[in-house]
Amino acid sequence: MKGIVFPGNDRVELREFQDPEPGYGEVVVGVRASGMCGSDLHAYHAPAADGQDLVIEGHEPCGVVEKIGEGVPSHVAQVGDRVMIHHYWGCGTCSECRSGWSQLCTSMEPRISSVNEHGGHASMIKVPAAQILPLPDELSFKAGAAIACGTGTAWGALLRLGDVGGKTLVVVGQGPVGASATMLGVALGARVIAVDLSDARLQKALTFGADAVVNPANEDVADAVRRLTGGTGAELMMETSGNSRGAQSGIDSLAIWGRGCFVGVGADVHFNTRDTLRRQLTLLTSWTMSTVEQMRCARFVMERNLPVDDLFTHTWSLGDAEDAYRWFSEQTDGKGAFVP
Ligand SMILES: [Zn+2]
Ligand SMILES: [Zn+2]
Repeated sequence: MKGIVFPGNDRVELREFQDPEPGYGEVVVGVRASGMCGSDLHAYHAPAADGQDLVIEGHEPCGVVEKIGEGVPSHVAQVGDRVMIHHYWGCGTCSECRSGWSQLCTSMEPRISSVNEHGGHASMIKVPAAQILPLPDELSFKAGAAIACGTGTAWGALLRLGDVGGKTLVVVGQGPVGASATMLGVALGARVIAVDLSDARLQKALTFGADAVVNPANEDVADAVRRLTGGTGAELMMETSGNSRGAQSGIDSLAIWGRGCFVGVGADVHFNTRDTLRRQLTLLTSWTMSTVEQMRCARFVMERNLPVDDLFTHTWSLGDAEDAYRWFSEQTDGKGAFVP
């Protein structure tokens, strides 16, 4: 089969790999949608690492069980099952693994699709059977792909922020994670102020239920948030841009007793403890979600009939990979998915 790899320095190649065969306790999933996630761009932009075996990219695969290895009970997987994938796995027995947080495994270096295991930008992916999660019939494969990272990351961060109903939530960045945070935050009863440098993304945020939008190119974000909150600032903030200025503007937008959660990777955040403690701020980080919460997120999206599919503006075939990542790296549009 063919799989997408990043040889370094913004290059994208489609390379030939052997079709995966499931070992003991493993399954092979036929990929029906493989989402593009903002964090792919860190690997895409990275310098070339010569002599290293490249893994297939993509950590938002979703599809149908095609092959089942020995030792997988029939109630866990049947050929044809529609499944999401939790794209990290660990020892399976430490307390983090047992609670569904295999990415935090304390006994071994976690295996991560597209980092040290092959990912989903191919026609098939092999994973331990414990990492597949049922995809509700009502959800599309693309929705299942988004929930596996981007949308699930927004869900996980909203859980970290806690009770969001009735609160004003500033979401910095309206890429796939931020747009998901807008959609989910509104569904949970928050009033969302969406922030992005792209007017097209802000327009989309309004269709996902944002109450107000702010473009930092036109207006200071903290000033705008104060104007929109009677001068007090926002009770809650989620930073999804990974941009240092974006992160700072998020902190500055918070009210006294405000809570902020950082999910964008790459921002350098500096805060002065005097300013921070005198506003009694709570600043958190959040890394995707557990298997348990991935399934809860899928059910929440299904029950509320949330338009997760509308996050996607582009669908690509594997052969379009170069164009797809050149487009995605501009970060002005929606989300893309490969449909092998
Ligand atoms: Zn573990
Ligand atoms: Zn991701």
